[in-house]
Amino acid sequence: MAYVISDDCISCGACAAACPVEAISEGAEHYEINPDVCIECGACAAECPVEAPKAP
Ligand code: SF4
Ligand code: SF4
Repeated sequence: MAYVISDDCISCGACAAACPVEAISEGAEHYEINPDVCIECGACAAECPVEAPKAP
Protein backbone atom coordinates (compact mmCIF):
# COMPACT_ATOMS: atom_id res chain seq x y z
CA MET A 1 0.00 0.00 0.00
CA ALA A 2 1.02 3.61 -0.42
CA TYR A 3 -0.04 7.07 0.65
CA VAL A 4 -2.75 8.57 -1.57
CA ILE A 5 -3.31 12.27 -2.30
CA SER A 6 -6.93 13.35 -1.96
CA ASP A 7 -8.89 15.91 -3.97
CA ASP A 8 -8.09 18.44 -1.21
CA CYS A 9 -4.69 18.92 -2.88
CA ILE A 10 -4.05 22.50 -4.04
CA SER A 11 -0.99 21.49 -6.13
CA CYS A 12 1.53 23.51 -4.14
CA GLY A 13 4.30 20.97 -4.78
CA ALA A 14 5.63 20.86 -1.21
CA CYS A 15 5.13 17.10 -0.92
CA ALA A 16 7.02 16.35 -4.13
CA ALA A 17 10.01 18.29 -2.84
CA ALA A 18 9.88 16.44 0.48
CA CYS A 19 9.53 12.90 -0.86
CA PRO A 20 12.84 11.03 -0.46
CA VAL A 21 12.13 8.60 -3.30
CA GLU A 22 10.58 11.01 -5.83
CA ALA A 23 7.28 9.12 -5.83
CA ILE A 24 5.18 12.28 -6.28
CA SER A 25 4.46 14.03 -9.55
CA GLU A 26 1.95 16.55 -10.87
CA GLY A 27 -1.08 14.72 -12.23
CA ALA A 28 -4.00 15.84 -14.34
CA GLU A 29 -6.21 16.91 -11.43
CA HIS A 30 -3.71 17.26 -8.60
CA TYR A 31 -0.41 15.82 -7.42
CA GLU A 32 -0.23 12.04 -7.41
CA ILE A 33 1.81 9.34 -5.65
CA ASN A 34 3.25 6.40 -7.58
CA PRO A 35 2.25 3.45 -5.37
CA ASP A 36 5.07 1.31 -6.73
CA VAL A 37 7.65 3.81 -5.45
CA CYS A 38 6.17 5.13 -2.18
CA ILE A 39 7.88 3.75 0.96
CA GLU A 40 5.17 5.10 3.32
CA CYS A 41 7.54 7.42 5.18
CA GLY A 42 4.90 10.11 5.79
CA ALA A 43 7.08 13.06 4.78
CA CYS A 44 4.51 14.27 2.26
CA ALA A 45 1.74 14.32 4.84
CA ALA A 46 3.97 16.24 7.25
CA GLU A 47 4.70 18.95 4.66
CA CYS A 48 1.22 19.33 3.17
CA PRO A 49 -0.67 22.50 4.22
CA VAL A 50 -4.08 20.92 3.64
CA GLU A 51 -3.48 17.34 4.84
CA ALA A 52 -4.18 15.89 1.41
CA PRO A 53 -1.82 12.87 1.55
CA LYS A 54 -3.65 10.09 3.35
CA ALA A 55 -1.93 7.17 5.09
CA PRO A 56 -2.83 3.71 3.74
FE1 SF4 B 1 7.00 9.93 -0.74
FE2 SF4 B 1 7.01 9.21 1.81
FE3 SF4 B 1 4.89 10.43 0.80
FE4 SF4 B 1 5.41 7.94 0.06
S1 SF4 B 1 4.86 8.64 2.15
S2 SF4 B 1 4.86 9.63 -1.31
S3 SF4 B 1 7.64 7.94 0.08
S4 SF4 B 1 6.94 11.31 1.04
FE1 SF4 C 1 -1.06 18.85 -2.85
FE2 SF4 C 1 -0.43 18.84 -0.27
FE3 SF4 C 1 1.32 17.97 -2.09
FE4 SF4 C 1 0.76 20.57 -1.90
S1 SF4 C 1 1.79 19.33 -0.33
S2 SF4 C 1 0.93 19.36 -3.81
S3 SF4 C 1 -1.43 20.50 -1.39
S4 SF4 C 1 -0.66 17.04 -1.58
